[in-house]
Amino acid sequence: MLFCDKCGKNACTKMDLDNIPKRCCPSGDCEMTEECVKMYSEGEDHLIAYASAMTETCNGGRNTRVEEIIAFAKRANYHKIGLAFCMCLLEEARIFAKIMRDNGFEVHSIICKNGGISKDVLDIDYLKEHSIRSEYAMCNPIGQAMKLNAEKVQLNIILGLCVGHDTLFIKYSEAPVTYLAVKDRCTGHNPLSPIYQHTNLFERIHHMDVKFDDEL
Ligand code: SF4
Repeated sequence: MLFCDKCGKNACTKMDLDNIPKRCCPSGDCEMTEECVKMYSEGEDHLIAYASAMTETCNGGRNTRVEEIIAFAKRANYHKIGLAFCMCLLEEARIFAKIMRDNGFEVHSIICKNGGISKDVLDIDYLKEHSIRSEYAMCNPIGQAMKLNAEKVQLNIILGLCVGHDTLFIKYSEAPVTYLAVKDRCTGHNPLSPIYQHTNLFERIHHMDVKFDDEL
C-alpha cells in the first residue's frame, strides 16, 4: 500500500531519511530506489532527468510551460518534435507549431481525427439506438502515435487530447511524451479549477452520481 497523500511528514522531500514513516518502505523499496538511481545515471533516462532538472531549477518558476518545453527540448537535444493535437485546439496547435519552428525545431503535427475513421468501428449502442450519426470521425490516437513513430520524432507533445485518447496515445508512442495542455472544456482547460474549488462550486465531484449516457 502506498499512502504518500496521507503522510504528515513528507520527510523524503527533504532527504530526511531518519524521519520517514515506518510503513514508508515496503519490502523491495530500497532495491527499487537503487534501481532508479542507476537508471537516472545513464542513457536517455539520464538525459531526460538532467534536462528536466535544469529546466525546473534554472527558471525558478518564472517561465511559461511553452518556454519550459522549448528549454527542455533544447537541453535534451531533441530536434524532431511530434505534436498530437485535438481538432478543438487547431488554432492553438497552429500557433504552437509556429513558435516551435521559429525556435528551430522540426515539427510534425497530427490531428486527432486523422484517418477519417467512422465511429461505427466502436459499435456504440447509444449512437445506434438514438440514430445518431456523428458528422465527425472517431478520434484516432493510435494513428497519431503510429504516424509520429514513423516520422521517428524524438519527443511527442500532447495538446488537448481527450481523457483516454491520451492514454492510448502515450501507450503507443515510441518517443517520450510531455504535455502542453490537457483538455478540460468545462473549465477552459484548467483541470485544477475544481480541485481548488472542491468545497464550494465543485462540491459535486466528491460524490459523483455517474450516469452513463446509455443509462439516462
Ligand atoms: S516519507 Fe514516505 S510516505 Fe511520506 S511522502 Fe515520503 S515516500 Fe511518501
